[in-house]
Order: sequence, then structure tokens, then C-alpha cells
Amino acid sequence: MKNLGSCLCKQVTFEVDKFQGSIGHCHCKMCQKFHGAAFSTFVETNRADLTWLSGEELLKEYSADNDSIRTFCACCGSSLLFQSKYNRSEDTVEIALAAFDKLEPVHPDAHIYTESKADWFDINDKLPQFKRYRATE
Ligand SMILES: [Zn+2]
Ligand SMILES: [Zn+2]
Repeated sequence: MKNLGSCLCKQVTFEVDKFQGSIGHCHCKMCQKFHGAAFSTFVETNRADLTWLSGEELLKEYSADNDSIRTFCACCGSSLLFQSKYNRSEDTVEIALAAFDKLEPVHPDAHIYTESKADWFDINDKLPQFKRYRATE
């Protein structure tokens, strides 16, 4: 099935054929700032499996000091994509899970970068927690 997503103003829409890799809740400070939330949740896909259906001209990029690039809608500010240097070398991209309107069943499996978790948010699930990135990588 096709996974369909959009930004808040609905001008940017996209579809994703299939996901790959694991899905983590990221508590890093940059995700907190960019999403205006306690954490972000991204799903990874091969670049080739992501197709823009509309609004591609509205996409803007923010490049951070750590060489990561975040893509957002210039009209409504919705966070859409994240790419680290690693993603770029693998030709993969991380997509904000909350941007999807139609989504196959997915199962986030960890909390990452909990060293910077917001004090006002308590993790109450049983998922493994990593201070920084997953220990296996
Ligand atoms: Zn938008
Ligand atoms: Zn993060």
C-alpha cells in the first residue's frame, strides 16, 4: 500500500512506497526545537521510494552545524524530512511520521538521544532507551 503524507497547509503532498529500517522517537534538542515538541518520530525510506505529489517548490531546507539537513514547508513550517550525512551517503531520507495521513502499521522501537529528554516529559512505555544513537550503530 502507498503511504500518503502532507504538510499542515496541505500544499505539499507525497507518497512513500515502502519504509526501511527502524523507527525511533528522537529526544535530541534539535528535534525538540524544530518540531516544537518533546520529541520527534522519523521513519526511514530509500530516496527513490519517496515521490512528491504536489508543492515540491515550497520545500525549504535548513542546514544545521552538525551537517544535518531538515526540510520543511515554506508556507506552514511543517517538518517533513531529516537527512544526516549518513542518510545522504546511503541515499535514504527520514520522514516525519506525524506528517502521514494514510500509513501502514508501524512500530517505533526505541527512544534515542534521551540524554537531552525534556524534563517535563516522562517516558512511560517499555521501549529501550539510548542516551544518544542506538547502541548497535
Ligand atoms: Zn505547508
Ligand atoms: Zn533528533
